Amino acid sequence: MQLEQIRQLAEERNQAIGREYYPHGAGLKDTLDLASVLNSYAALNSRDVIQTVMDALHATNDPTEKRQLAYLLGDCLEGYIQTAVSEVDDAVATAESQRTVHVDGKDVAFRQSAALMSNETDRLKRLEIEAARRHVIRDVNVQRRASLECVRRLIKEDLGYPGYTAFYHELKQVDFRGFSGLMQQFMKDTHDLYVRRLNEWTQEELGVAATECYRHDITFIMRAVKFDPYFPEERLKTTLVNTMANLGIDLRSQSNIILDLEKRPTKSPRAFVVAAQVPQEVYLVVQPRGGRDDYAAILHESGHAEHFGNTSTNLPYEFRWLGDYSVTECFAFTMELLTLDEGWLKQHLHMPEDVIKEYQKYAYTVLFYLFRRYSSKLEYELRLHDEGDLEGKEHLYSEVMEKNLIVKHSAELYLSDVDPGFYCANYLRAWIMWAQLRKYLRKEFGTEWFNSQAAGAYLKKVWALGQSLPAELLVKEFGYEGLDIGPLKEELAAVLGGAPAVAGVDA
Ligand SMILES: [Zn+2]
Repeated sequence: MQLEQIRQLAEERNQAIGREYYPHGAGLKDTLDLASVLNSYAALNSRDVIQTVMDALHATNDPTEKRQLAYLLGDCLEGYIQTAVSEVDDAVATAESQRTVHVDGKDVAFRQSAALMSNETDRLKRLEIEAARRHVIRDVNVQRRASLECVRRLIKEDLGYPGYTAFYHELKQVDFRGFSGLMQQFMKDTHDLYVRRLNEWTQEELGVAATECYRHDITFIMRAVKFDPYFPEERLKTTLVNTMANLGIDLRSQSNIILDLEKRPTKSPRAFVVAAQVPQEVYLVVQPRGGRDDYAAILHESGHAEHFGNTSTNLPYEFRWLGDYSVTECFAFTMELLTLDEGWLKQHLHMPEDVIKEYQKYAYTVLFYLFRRYSSKLEYELRLHDEGDLEGKEHLYSEVMEKNLIVKHSAELYLSDVDPGFYCANYLRAWIMWAQLRKYLRKEFGTEWFNSQAAGAYLKKVWALGQSLPAELLVKEFGYEGLDIGPLKEELAAVLGGAPAVAGVDA
């Protein structure tokens, strides 16, 4: 197969995955049959195809072409692995979609139970729901484990890499170990501030010390019901449409972005964007469950949807579909974290001054917690994938998460709270990049950049690049040398107090 044919077939495969995934994730179809889709593109998994891409990659010295081919090679290798484990992975998705948990004498869809838990005000009942959920999670772990063991075998035995971490280091062009070292340093530097703020928070909200709390208690206080009056469900879509309109983006005329906000019992509780074509057919899916989370989710996903929906059709497949996902996550955070902005909160949610102060303290605490949570996930995932057998990793999960986050973490989550290919690092890089971009937008277009059509035009120009530039290079467009955690530290220190922002550490 020629390189151009490989490229075309790989794009068709991604389109087919999008078309299969959307109705399942949206709760329109119980089963997920990615196995059939992937198997119908088995031609992409041959040694010859992989060799053709590798040869082309090694033959070029042009940095852009090299990056393009590295992304294509990554796509082929991940496709190869995905195809091999697709039946087990489908079984995991189908089981989670079909299983129920018994709560309060009623059977509830497993996927719905997460929302139920984060809305439950009674701590003991939350614990009961969690226990019922753990049952299902433990069962599904058998399949998750089989899938991960198979992935590890393929990486080592079939593809000849020394291990999972080395494989993804090369594919994603990110030194995960080095990056994790920086994140661990950040956690160390901010540990005292974190413990103080977390305790204050759990005492205020739950009347208990942080060490008494479980992860699901934090999920509950993050849900922040008390702010619900400012985040009415009936204004959810209008707020999105108005926010975009102020940037000069008319969402209603964008026929390539399809909004799916309808509530369905088996709809994925995690909001997502999936493309069937980039940029021509992009689905934005949110399962509203009430309150601020819905606003954060819809804005987050709209950042992805606008990024993919504005990507230039002139770009090759690799730069429209593949690349560094920290970039699309950064644009998602740029929209989502408007919910931290005093001006935006006043304008769109009519939040009074005193509530804004309280709300910002809360929202920045959530950001701080999440940044530490993903840093902890990266630390754990590196150890999960590097340290031999999967036996005993349940305890490692609890140990690492509890050391950094203080709150209790159920060991059963040791495989489900893991994203493939160190995706957690994309979120971390994206938060760092978001703070850099926000600082730039405020400098160029004013503190109310979100009301500037010029800022919208600028974002469209950057979105048109798709993912042709990795985060390290894209931040140069915003006037930085590279990724710099300094602006994020400034953001956190400004609201949470603590030590004044220190000079930026390159990340
Ligand atoms: Zn995202």
